[in-house]
Amino acid sequence: MLMLEELNQFAHDLLWTWQPRIEGLFQALNPELWESTRQNPVLMLAQLGEQGVAKALEREEVSHALEEARQAYREYYDRRPPFMDARAPMVVAYFSLEFGLAECLPIYSGGLGVLAGDHLKATSDLGLPLVAVGLFYKQGFGRQDIDAEGRQVEVYYENRGDDLPVRKVDGVEVDAPIGQRKVKIGVWRAQVGRVPLFLLDTDLESNPPDLRAITDRLYVPEPDRRLRQEIVLGIGGVRALRALGMVAGVFHLNEGHSFLCAIERIRELRASRQMTLEEARLVARAGIVFTTHTPIAAGSDYFEPGLVWDLLNPYLTEVGISFDRFMDLGRQRPGDPRDRLVTTYAALRLADQAVGVSRLHGAVSRRLWKDAWKGLPESQVPIGSVTNGAHMPTWVAPEIADLLRRYVGPDWWDLDGEDGRWQAVFEIPAAELWSVHVELKRNLLKVARTRSVDSEQMDEHALTFGFARRFAPYKRANLLLEDRARLNKLLRNSKRPVQLIFAGKSHPADQPGKDIVAKVVALAREEPCVTFLKDYDLAIARHLVHGADVWLNNPKRFLEASGTSGMKAGANGVLNVSVLDGWWDEAYRPELGWAIPSGATLDRPNVDDQAEAEGLFRLLEREVVPAFYERDENGIPQRWVAMMRASIRHVVTDFSARRMVTDYFDIAYAPAARRVEQLRLLPDWGG
Ligand SMILES: *Cc1c(COP(=O)(O)O)cnc(C)c1O
Repeated sequence: MLMLEELNQFAHDLLWTWQPRIEGLFQALNPELWESTRQNPVLMLAQLGEQGVAKALEREEVSHALEEARQAYREYYDRRPPFMDARAPMVVAYFSLEFGLAECLPIYSGGLGVLAGDHLKATSDLGLPLVAVGLFYKQGFGRQDIDAEGRQVEVYYENRGDDLPVRKVDGVEVDAPIGQRKVKIGVWRAQVGRVPLFLLDTDLESNPPDLRAITDRLYVPEPDRRLRQEIVLGIGGVRALRALGMVAGVFHLNEGHSFLCAIERIRELRASRQMTLEEARLVARAGIVFTTHTPIAAGSDYFEPGLVWDLLNPYLTEVGISFDRFMDLGRQRPGDPRDRLVTTYAALRLADQAVGVSRLHGAVSRRLWKDAWKGLPESQVPIGSVTNGAHMPTWVAPEIADLLRRYVGPDWWDLDGEDGRWQAVFEIPAAELWSVHVELKRNLLKVARTRSVDSEQMDEHALTFGFARRFAPYKRANLLLEDRARLNKLLRNSKRPVQLIFAGKSHPADQPGKDIVAKVVALAREEPCVTFLKDYDLAIARHLVHGADVWLNNPKRFLEASGTSGMKAGANGVLNVSVLDGWWDEAYRPELGWAIPSGATLDRPNVDDQAEAEGLFRLLEREVVPAFYERDENGIPQRWVAMMRASIRHVVTDFSARRMVTDYFDIAYAPAARRVEQLRLLPDWGG
């Protein structure tokens, strides 16, 4: 095989994003090109060409890196994953509007996409039969730049399929209804280890311009454009799987955006099995699993009846469902003709299994969406929960992974939480763990300088807080700014200095969120010990969760459905200081981190920001800062390191995507597969 061909094979399998030995090959080939292509191996190889690759391979470290990559690749695929022999080998189709897999594949915006990407990676590790469906955006989500006034501006770049780790699927084209017209849809394939991800693309010459533009950008705010995208994802997605010969039995809707997938299943069943609408609805429903991610009603999509009529009515006639019946599926008040269609209600009513993304979010969701089951008491609303997880081989720093490999075992990332070998984490010598952490922190501060709005040098000895998340007002990035005098005292303490690193984008249409970005940037430009990093993406996220000392999370309680960045941090021994919300409400123990006091309860969720800021300052001043600066004769914070060990031990196992996907299998996929299997045995199924 030509050398370039072999390397392209590595480049087109996103396995490299979680196998440092494969990624290491690309880095070794040409470190400058690797960075300037935004770590895009496909683009890099195209620029190097066969000759450039051959030349690089003359260097010993590159040919050694190639051997390492080959070995990592072989080891991964030779290993028999635990679910390969699963009892219910029914294929699961996973639908999501975004997937965060690699910096160079900008088809994600934030948490939801990274979660979906992590889901696929863990599924590949486990060997569960799953295929994924998403959209191929021409421009992805806007990259963030900060102008001279400190305001966020979005910059859009063109995605060219040929430059990315995706491949066009030749000869597969399906269509989906847009009102009286049909949009043609092409398909790209990304390979995520064992899991194929199919990305739908309407930018085909055979489509008129307005239909070509459907898959332009992620999260278009206009309802008309959004509904068109959801038609392509839900209806087009099911048709694409059919055309590809992928026979799925279970359909997992990651957020309500793909609810139309359920309607297309109903249409298929009616057309091929002559079922009544009611029969088809019940049979389709048996295989549908739905995850709701939003903790507020406004987080769902809302579509006016007129818009739905314009875009979907001819299709609904074909399905054999009346317009009113369809609208009622998604209405809070069925029967009210003015009521809009809410994607979350529709997905809840069409799925057999619905879950929130943490235990607390399950409870919040039962309250929020109880009207989907009029008359049921809240406690009986059938929404459960599967707590999110982070894909540990992606998010644990290679240096920490190396400690785990040596102390716990080479397959640390594949061990159950109950495995006795995990006890060995507590035997990692404090000096060793601390020196690895200090190294990661240095690395973060180095990278921070290249991305920060003020490019100041930060102090590697100062207690460093990381705060990186979407800048939505409820996340309260500005909470510590409420009391500037007290913040200054915390930052400017010469004996026990503190510094803050912020990163995060606002949705382009979120003006209040953008105002908070501007406030934090202004502070960063004024204060030497505060910095703001531009264009929060997977790469910056990784450096931050590896190298900060503390991960700060202070949302309004009940509004952070899960939060996964804290898991990524905790897995690296970065201690969480967080409101008891989302995942932290179930993870928190005093041995692992700190809980910011909040007065909010489910019945009285509104809180006084000022009082919460006061509680946070008190916690930092009295507990967190003193603990960090309490050192032994060798300068090691023994008590802090003990907490780092406990954090690593519990977060790596209990909040891993491996645990999450295993839970989905036990709680949702396997029962759904059994229901579908049983229905197929019914005599009137018809074969
Ligand atoms: C993990 C991650 C998120 C989600 O973090 P939250 O804690 O849910 O806010 C968002 N963006 C990126 C790039 C991430 O890696």
